[in-house]
Amino acid sequence: MTTRNPETETSSEWLTRDRLMSALPDALLEKIRAFRDERDWAPFHNPKDMAIAISLEASELLEHFLWKNPEEVTARVESHREAISEEIADIAIYLTELADNLGIDLADAMEAKLAKNAAKYPVEKARGSAAKYNEL
Ligand SMILES: [Mg+2]
Repeated sequence: MTTRNPETETSSEWLTRDRLMSALPDALLEKIRAFRDERDWAPFHNPKDMAIAISLEASELLEHFLWKNPEEVTARVESHREAISEEIADIAIYLTELADNLGIDLADAMEAKLAKNAAKYPVEKARGSAAKYNEL
């Protein structure tokens, strides 16, 4: 995996489509596949159960913030940063594997969806607004 030189490249220049696509399979996707295959878990990793697993891990992330006001959320992030990081990683690992299992290029899918979102939320209408696209 390559690393960015902040003196010569901005983060957006570094995160070009090709670099993102090559970094993920090389550095992480093979580890995710190996982790699953060494345990012979592929038979369990059907799309339904992977989607459920993603949702459950997202719920574990949400649990950190349940019933907390904004100040308590900020404090929770500081006091439980590692645990929150692990839940984010759980979500990302399952998401990456699901996309891989379905033959979906995650980087391509993200780029396509970002382009759709940009069209739905034009900067001149959406800047500073939390409104849904159909209410802008
Ligand atoms: Mg978890």
